[in-house]
Amino acid sequence: MGSSAPDAGVHRLELPTGFAVGPVNCWLIDDDPLTLVDTGPNSGTVLHALERALAEHGRRVEDLGRIVVSHQHMDHLGLAGVLAERSGAEVCAYAPLAPWLAEWDAAMEAEDRFAEDLMARHGIPAEVRYALRSMSRVMRGWGAPVTVTRPLRDGDELPFAGRTLHVHHRPGHSPSDLVLHDPRRGLLIGADHLIAHISSNPLAARRLDGSGERFPALATYLDSLRATREMDLALVLTGHGEPVADHRALIDERFAGHRRRAGKIVRLLAERPATAYELAHALWGNVAITQAFLTLSEVLGHTDLLVAEGRLREETDAEGVTRWVSVR
Ligand SMILES: [Zn+2]
Repeated sequence: MGSSAPDAGVHRLELPTGFAVGPVNCWLIDDDPLTLVDTGPNSGTVLHALERALAEHGRRVEDLGRIVVSHQHMDHLGLAGVLAERSGAEVCAYAPLAPWLAEWDAAMEAEDRFAEDLMARHGIPAEVRYALRSMSRVMRGWGAPVTVTRPLRDGDELPFAGRTLHVHHRPGHSPSDLVLHDPRRGLLIGADHLIAHISSNPLAARRLDGSGERFPALATYLDSLRATREMDLALVLTGHGEPVADHRALIDERFAGHRRRAGKIVRLLAERPATAYELAHALWGNVAITQAFLTLSEVLGHTDLLVAEGRLREETDAEGVTRWVSVR
């Protein structure tokens, strides 16, 4: 590709993850400092794959001068600590995420407890919760603590010898999602903010403010998509799968998909009140246990919005289980 290509000097390193999502895209920015956006999960296999991928570009781990963590999910950050230690690279991430990344195990433990309470409250059966909990314990090792040396905030700039990347906080898929914008080339390194082949699940998660409160994932995500839709972009480099050339068309598809789903939820609740688990079951049938938290997240994203619109209210019974009730 010539130097006028929007992705000039930005190379995709596709690494295995072992997760259902498939391989993760890490982005090597061949500039000064040599920069890696996302690292893949923490495993020897992934590290070797990364070393081979860097070697294809004539680079080694030790050459890295900067690592950017796009967001808090372990398929994107697991190796950051190892790579920073070997290279001395600075580590950049959304500033409020820094304490979370420093205390990875404690953060994951708290996140699991939050998830378990949330699932119980929304009607997910105990056997599913226990299965998810033990799975999550096993998976935790795909992440690892890392010290953020350059905390980033919305509106910051990351300077390089040959470009300046603008940092935007675009939460929704997770509370800590950052995207990196190269306005000169119309290039956005978007990680999981926008993915072509799957809709980026706005996952239920705790706010990063330490309150322990649930972050309104879908409402926040739709606002973030609106902000990205306003941008003039030639290409979005994604965290999984192929780059996105027409971000506005894809965002409009996502908006339409969410509107359809909201409509279905309203119709289901017009028949009778239901827990989020019952709604997920009505929408997707019997999903794999591993999908139970994902589908719960999706339903709660919608009930948040519908409550805000005054179309639903919640009712919590004596056992502490919440049902959604249609408001007419
Ligand atoms: Zn993610």
